[in-house]
Amino acid sequence: MWKDITDRLLTISEHCLWLPKKEWAQKQKPGVTLTFKAGRGKRTYHRGGNPDHIITIGKKCVEENFLSPLTASKWLHFREIIDRGYFDRQISPSTMLTGILCHEFAHFVQVLLGARPRGSVHNDAFYKILDRIHHNGHAEKIRNTLLTHLSNLSLKDQFLEEEFPNFKYPNINDTVEIPYLEGTLFGKIRAINGSNVTIEGYFCGQRTRTTKSIGEILEYVKPKNRSDFI
Ligand SMILES: [Zn+2]
Repeated sequence: MWKDITDRLLTISEHCLWLPKKEWAQKQKPGVTLTFKAGRGKRTYHRGGNPDHIITIGKKCVEENFLSPLTASKWLHFREIIDRGYFDRQISPSTMLTGILCHEFAHFVQVLLGARPRGSVHNDAFYKILDRIHHNGHAEKIRNTLLTHLSNLSLKDQFLEEEFPNFKYPNINDTVEIPYLEGTLFGKIRAINGSNVTIEGYFCGQRTRTTKSIGEILEYVKPKNRSDFI
């Protein structure tokens, strides 16, 4: 299955990212080429230049972005979706996988424009390019194409692990029950700041406030309507 999805991602990248930009890219740098290929492991990256570029999409990466928001949250583009507001901050396999393609393609454009000095990978120029891909509707188009491919493979845009069929990014006032010190902190999310959340609640009868990363608390968020404490 991961091979099928990865193959579809390669086709989408070729048709929706490279081909529409090929002429423009070759004007910037005559003879430039871009190839997409599948990698066996996790590593997903852009490499090359002068004139051949390659974007490798790791099958294990595709798997992690489809399995659960917990495995997906380890990837940088998870934070990008949240912090930069891409896809209205929706986290699902289709937004995560589209996020990967756009991220790697943005590296290609970055190198092409000479905006990647040594040691400065995710710099302002990079995010300017990535923002543009998301804000001009391009990312949404790619996501829609991907959704069609997923449905052809009889896959829904849902994480595969059962406890997260319809993952929603936590909201203010969602209830949480997280491991805390030697026990459990019962509380509510009071603030969300990028990929960190502030939880306020009771621990051993004491009012307590703590800040955690989204990844740490995802599995402990409960639906809002089940707020049976505080
Ligand atoms: Zn990157």
